[in-house]
Amino acid sequence: MTQWVYSFGAGHNEGRADMRNLLGGKGANLAEMSAIGLPVPPGFTITTEVCTSYYDNNRTYPDALAAQTRAALARIEQSVGLTFGNAEKPLLVSVRSGARVSMPGMMDTVLNLGLNDTTVQGLTNAAGDARFAWDSYRRFIQMYGAVVLDVDHHRFEEIIEQIKLETGEVEDTALTADDWMRVVDAYKDMIAQETGKPFPQDPEEQLWGAIGAVFGSWMNPRAITYRRLHDIPATWGTAVNVQAMVFGNMGTDCATGVCFTRDPSTGENMFYGEYLVNAQGEDVVAGIRTPQPLANLRAKPDEQPMETVMPKAYAELMAVRAKLEAHYQDMQDIEFTVQRGTLYMLQTRNGKRTAAASLRIAVEMANEGLIDRKEAVKRVNPSSLDQLLHPTLDPKAPRTLLAKGLPASPGAACGIVVFSADEAEARAGKGEAVILVRIETSPEDIHGMHAARGILTTRGGMTSHAAVVARGMGRPCVAGAGGIAVDYNAQTLRAGNVEIQAGQTITIDGASGEVFVGSVAMIEPAMSGDFGTLMGWADECRRLGVRANAETPLDAETARKFGAEGIGLCRTEHMFFDPERIGAVRQMIMASDERGRRTALEKLLPFQRDDFTALFRIMAGLPVTIRLLDPPLHEFLPHEEDDLIAVASALGTDVEAMRRRAAELAEANPMLGHRGCRLGVTFPEIYEMQARAIFEGALEVAKTGQAPHPEIMIPLVGTRKELDITRAQIEKVAEEVFKEAGRRIEYSVGTMIELPRAALTADSIAGAADFFSFGTNDLTQTVFGLSRDDAGKFLPAYVDQGILPKDPFVSIDVEGVGEMVRIATNKGRAAKPKLKLGICGEHGGDPASIAFCEQVGLDYVSCSPYRVPVARLAAAQAALGAGGDRTA
Ligand code: PEP
Ligand code: MG
Repeated sequence: MTQWVYSFGAGHNEGRADMRNLLGGKGANLAEMSAIGLPVPPGFTITTEVCTSYYDNNRTYPDALAAQTRAALARIEQSVGLTFGNAEKPLLVSVRSGARVSMPGMMDTVLNLGLNDTTVQGLTNAAGDARFAWDSYRRFIQMYGAVVLDVDHHRFEEIIEQIKLETGEVEDTALTADDWMRVVDAYKDMIAQETGKPFPQDPEEQLWGAIGAVFGSWMNPRAITYRRLHDIPATWGTAVNVQAMVFGNMGTDCATGVCFTRDPSTGENMFYGEYLVNAQGEDVVAGIRTPQPLANLRAKPDEQPMETVMPKAYAELMAVRAKLEAHYQDMQDIEFTVQRGTLYMLQTRNGKRTAAASLRIAVEMANEGLIDRKEAVKRVNPSSLDQLLHPTLDPKAPRTLLAKGLPASPGAACGIVVFSADEAEARAGKGEAVILVRIETSPEDIHGMHAARGILTTRGGMTSHAAVVARGMGRPCVAGAGGIAVDYNAQTLRAGNVEIQAGQTITIDGASGEVFVGSVAMIEPAMSGDFGTLMGWADECRRLGVRANAETPLDAETARKFGAEGIGLCRTEHMFFDPERIGAVRQMIMASDERGRRTALEKLLPFQRDDFTALFRIMAGLPVTIRLLDPPLHEFLPHEEDDLIAVASALGTDVEAMRRRAAELAEANPMLGHRGCRLGVTFPEIYEMQARAIFEGALEVAKTGQAPHPEIMIPLVGTRKELDITRAQIEKVAEEVFKEAGRRIEYSVGTMIELPRAALTADSIAGAADFFSFGTNDLTQTVFGLSRDDAGKFLPAYVDQGILPKDPFVSIDVEGVGEMVRIATNKGRAAKPKLKLGICGEHGGDPASIAFCEQVGLDYVSCSPYRVPVARLAAAQAALGAGGDRTA
């Protein structure tokens, strides 16, 4: 019979950390912590398979689940000596969701489940404190009401406010047992009114209600959005954890806290966290009371660190910290409760961290001998390096400080203020840079957070929703800027006597927590020593070469700075748009015959030669792949009337002639039209000029520096003949130039493989090519029959509906486009074993696609300069066979 329920704690651990797919991260780690001897309250986990089965079977549970749940509950009862629903000694439990990876957006927690009008008396007796018992009961009704019965949480707050008004008290802590009793009565009345049913008194009914809510929350819109943004398949499902309650709010010898075994922002090897005396878990994150630091070293003079207030429990926690890091060999994010001086562990998981912290922790753990270098390389998510490459504020730039909050997620961002997630998304969609400003964020806001350049909240700490989610997304975030008052109605924020309205610009610095009026100049990121160290280790592990797509000297320099080992794609058409040359380009296009074209091309030659000379110098002997002109000529013609007039007069022709030429060149489908080598075949003088510029530039550089090895690449080849013809043109020019100079250099001629026909006939094409470079942008377009320019209108819907797992222009479609690459690789290599193979489509910088390139055995990937470090690390991980289960 299938085991649907796994127990943990009290010496009966059926799960392990490596069973997270079945038990969810939380459940698997509770069992693991308990197995290594840490104090974990007993409980059980209902598996993720139940979730899958629930949705596969019309929202019904497997038959055996009820009996297995009862048996596991009985085991808890036995080990703690309490009974579910018992009037004298009631067992109370927490119910929490727990997917394979932590997922804000789902039902989180219901605490104190099992309380009702009878058991509240039992809790009063056990605790010797009626106020505590009634406060616990009202908290339970409130959580259960909100997350299981779907009652708006404002309704509960209104009732508490009303009681406070009546009693004249301001703080919750001043309310008495009688007050909370009245709150409970009012809650029950309100729930009966709202839901049409009395609040459930039967603990079994409560339990199944909460379990149903966890499974139900797997398919709520917030969870679906979160999964989409993080590539989490719906089929994973969530587990449910039911665990005996321990109380952090039973008095001043009780506490609850959340902490990280190292600093999640910087990675510093220092215990980092917050706790509250006499509080329940949600109080720490709710931001109603200000949490206190754990370590004395972190405390400000007016704070009460746990180390001083609860030295014994703190010492136990320090021992737990060391044991957890040694066991998991990674930084942990833990939750604990102290009940009457005794420490209990409620959760551990690999802690989310900033990219900087991820790097530092990986490098330091390797240096401490906790992990080896290869493991350190596997630990850092390549995409997270983007965060380190973000701009920071120029220290010399003038600025006006508006307020200061917590440095929740590093990086600086500048944009216009918007106050809602929807507006953030809408305005970002129009290309505006926005800063999302909220009092606090919730899972409903994630689409806006994703769209925003940066996030600013006025409430909440370093473990608040905004801080955790922004860090995960790599968005700069300043959280808890309490000096700022936000008025959603007036659409303003105010700090002191400065008022900023929606639409005005602010700048935030997520590394310092500062908020500035207006925009502040930013500078390029500087890389820390840890970055270089890890990159060095990555380079020792990888097999794939990493090149950059670059055409300007600045791009090439950036690429080298980031460690590119050559240029894999220089798109020469980008050099045609320069204001100094576009005139000559247009003259070439307007020319009615070859002679006219040659005259115009003569003018372009020195420019192109200088371009290539500069690139060869910067790349100092590294390979440089130069692709000859690709796009259709009409792209260079002016479109606006004013431009047409200007060009016509510059060329000494009339506007009508320009218009006629534009009409002649117009194509119904330019992407599949007169472009790439089709231009080279029909107007050979264009490629001849480019080849001459390349050879002359290379010879020039060879005179004084390291001889470059140009790799000349022909775009959009579909047949062997096209390559034969264009190759012959290039060879002819090469011989002419070498003869004129009296010197030669080495060069290669190769082709893009970006059309299905080229891939399918790669064995034949290889006969005329020294190398292939997969143009997976066009290959994706042509394999799918999907326009690169128009797919944005419907592709997102395809991804949302699960028709495609990811946008195939971002991450290679392994089954289709990938198969084409595989065929071309095999055929090409069969015909020419030494054929050099690379990729230069956007996929060259995407970690999942790089893993594919490693698998098929390409020689290198080429990507935009800023993605070079990402590619180096991803290539190393691919070589190490690293899976996708990373922590940052
Ligand atoms: C490609 O098609 O993948 C490619 C690199 O070329 P472009 O994007 O310039 O068409
Ligand atoms: Mg292309």
